[in-house]
Amino acid sequence: MKYEEMLKLAKEKLPKVQSKSERFVVPKIQGHVEGNKTILINIFSIADLIARQPEHILKYLQRELATPGFFQDKRLVFGRKLTSAMINEKMQSYVTTFVLCDQCSKPDTQLLNEEGKLIKKCTACGTKSLVQTKI
Ligand SMILES: [Zn+2]
Repeated sequence: MKYEEMLKLAKEKLPKVQSKSERFVVPKIQGHVEGNKTILINIFSIADLIARQPEHILKYLQRELATPGFFQDKRLVFGRKLTSAMINEKMQSYVTTFVLCDQCSKPDTQLLNEEGKLIKKCTACGTKSLVQTKI
């Protein structure tokens, strides 16, 4: 066997290295506290980026933060003081639950309703996973 052939064979036997895709980074919430309210100014742009409805994110945040909120001029207003750390943590878990593919961790997913179950379907790798969290 020629050296080149051996080399080729050796290469073929190596486990395929998966190209490491960049980890999706959830944008940080921007906002401020005004009196007893917390106002977030970039929720619509985040919703746009992760291709989810702002209303869906609001529902989740309201429940997780146990704080009622509403939209006002494309800003999200919460009825109490919240730290950005609290909100960012919840946004991260929202994205992990409803956006990132369980298999490949890419954010290219769609939410589907199949027989009353919420399914997260990845358009990158085709994986379908059941979303357990209910909003
Ligand atoms: Zn995937």
